[in-house]
Amino acid sequence: MLKKLPLYSKILLGMLFGFIVGVVAVLLGANQLVSDYIKPFGTIFLNLLKLVAMPLIFASLVAGVAGLSDITKLSRIGLKTISLYILTTLIAVSLGLVIVNVIKPGNFFPDEKRVEFVSKYSVDLAAKQQAAENIKERSPIQFLVDIVPENVVQAATSNTSMLQVIFFALIFGVALIMVKDSKVEIIKDIIIGLNLVVLKIVDIIMHFAPFGVFALMAALVVDFAGDDISSSIHLFTTLGVYAISVVLGLLILIFGFYPLFLKVFVGIDFKKFYISIFPAQLVAFSTSSSAATLPVTMEQVEKKLGVHNDISSFVLPVGVTINMDGTSLYQAVATVFIAQVFGIDLTFGQLLTILITATLASIGSAGVPGAGMVMLIIVLNSVGLPIEGLALILAIDRPLDMLRTVVNVTGDAMIATLIAKREGKLAVVD
Ligand code: ASP
Repeated sequence: MLKKLPLYSKILLGMLFGFIVGVVAVLLGANQLVSDYIKPFGTIFLNLLKLVAMPLIFASLVAGVAGLSDITKLSRIGLKTISLYILTTLIAVSLGLVIVNVIKPGNFFPDEKRVEFVSKYSVDLAAKQQAAENIKERSPIQFLVDIVPENVVQAATSNTSMLQVIFFALIFGVALIMVKDSKVEIIKDIIIGLNLVVLKIVDIIMHFAPFGVFALMAALVVDFAGDDISSSIHLFTTLGVYAISVVLGLLILIFGFYPLFLKVFVGIDFKKFYISIFPAQLVAFSTSSSAATLPVTMEQVEKKLGVHNDISSFVLPVGVTINMDGTSLYQAVATVFIAQVFGIDLTFGQLLTILITATLASIGSAGVPGAGMVMLIIVLNSVGLPIEGLALILAIDRPLDMLRTVVNVTGDAMIATLIAKREGKLAVVD
């Protein structure tokens, strides 16, 4: 019977069992058992996804570009994609700013607890600050420089350099179109063949997804319990209201803005859209990484929504690196929340600065767990807020990361569907 279930039901079951096993392990004091024998399977699943990400980007992007056989078409799609990504990000940040200014979660913070809480997290903070140290001294357009790798092999060795590989794959694909010599046909064929093989690998990995998600969930529950959450119970109200503000924003994006966008610009029922990408959303939720989720997003968008590989192979990998609606909304809410906690009133000009830096920071965030939080330091710096503020939100960051990653992935899929529709590359799938 289990065999017949659709993939997302299996993943959902895996998640549920993982949660139950995690809770039972905590109750029985068997945390170590989960860490030693279950968590590794989650790591294996994550590794499998990461392993296939680079070959997938390269093969499918080159195959996609080569298939376009017309460079003007490529630049038109590229321009549309990037403009739409920036537009949705700006809307997400604005929404975040409105919500946090209406709810004002920072005003719930108990004054006497501030110092104690900041010092509690100072060690973790030092590490995060170190990570962002280099970033904040860079030129505002450093992200352009970062796109161009000095060594393509080196770029391909790190999953955080996806934009660099995309850049190389694009030039490679374009050059492949430009060389009108029969000798390059074999290269085209090889890459198209490679693409098919990589897609098959994704298929195989997905059979393992329910088990991978099970293991990740169980490990997560156990890790959380180890944090001794009870000691910071007095901060729950403040953090709770802050978390509610972020979650509310994410919910509005996912159940208000995206469905509206889909209806008006794509003419697709949002229920069909969500059912189609649900497995990707579940993987995003349990891995907190839109980069790791990419293979699944691609598979679902192509097979279930009918987006042609020409479009998805370009729009989705670019989206993973530059389009993070959930992350940018979260960065806006977190920044203003921290200002409120420290009793700092932000001017309209500062809010505008947050709008721009949160947009840029989300573009600069890699699609890996916690990346949005590191980049948040840049947003905090831009309006002169104390970095220590980060300590306030550390405790609750992981669950929020899981949720914002779902939104990030959904936003990418939405734009891919929209562009496919506009380009006449959206097949009808039942
Ligand atoms: N984890 C997020 C993602 O992969 C990025 C972040 O907000 O930290 O999309």
